[in-house]
Amino acid sequence: MSGERLRRHVSRKSRYATKDLVSRKETTMFVDTHCHLDFDSLAQDLTDTLARAQSAGVRQLITIGIDLPSSHSAVAMAESRNEVFATVGVHPHNACQLSTVDIDKLVGLSRKSKVVAFGEIGLDFYRNYQPHSVQLSSLGQQLDLARDLNLPVVIHDRDAHGKILEILKEHRTWELGGVMHCFSGDWSFARRCLDLDLYLSIAGPVTFNKSKALQEVARNCPLDRLLLETDAPFLAPVPKRGKRNEPAFLIHTAEKIASLRNMPLAELALQTTKNARRLFNLPNPAEVAALNRNE
Ligand SMILES: [Zn+2]
Ligand SMILES: [Zn+2]
Repeated sequence: MSGERLRRHVSRKSRYATKDLVSRKETTMFVDTHCHLDFDSLAQDLTDTLARAQSAGVRQLITIGIDLPSSHSAVAMAESRNEVFATVGVHPHNACQLSTVDIDKLVGLSRKSKVVAFGEIGLDFYRNYQPHSVQLSSLGQQLDLARDLNLPVVIHDRDAHGKILEILKEHRTWELGGVMHCFSGDWSFARRCLDLDLYLSIAGPVTFNKSKALQEVARNCPLDRLLLETDAPFLAPVPKRGKRNEPAFLIHTAEKIASLRNMPLAELALQTTKNARRLFNLPNPAEVAALNRNE
């Protein structure tokens, strides 16, 4: 960490650390590190969706930008809700050669205080909505931007494992920090990602019976590299499979992973929350609540 990000980190830390804190004791809480709250099916029902998330122990959420308008929405939502944080970026489905105007807009948005990462960016060679060459140049361009901004990256990879690793290596993303979101590879690919210091974020498909390879990843991933996400409104876990997904359903994915690892759910919550805070520099909600009370 260096430059601007370090300054932001230090100033944010001191902001949360200077006041009396109620308690440093962590209660069971989860972070949904990847959801799309601006998608219609969730946005129409946002207040109730967030209330259900809180009741399920999902105390912080990161809503993800996939293009310029959704990055704007993500930032606006984060600015109006304590528990919501945002990322900005252009998804490979929307990849294009970014104009200087687009870049200026993304940079402007990314400087907002609740933006915690750049993404989601990456490669999708499954749907192939954009030609590979366009996806590759958009990814390269945005990895350079993330470096200029000192932000960690949220990576989308579908059927592009080899190419993604090559590009992340070239861009030395371990210096920024990053996560392979909705991880979809096997354990041998997971190890290559871990070698690059990436976090692995596991979503609802780990609860599907046929997902043996992903279950092996969830079992073997070092505890300090594991993150949880819903990718809502997509990919609802069992027993909600086929329904609209929402952040409250994170609990089903967490329960599955805890049982695969034969560990208490509270311990998984604690560790994955620590990981999310470390990668995305999230404040402790108990400290924020104390700060708000003292103001
Ligand atoms: Zn994605
Ligand atoms: Zn996503």
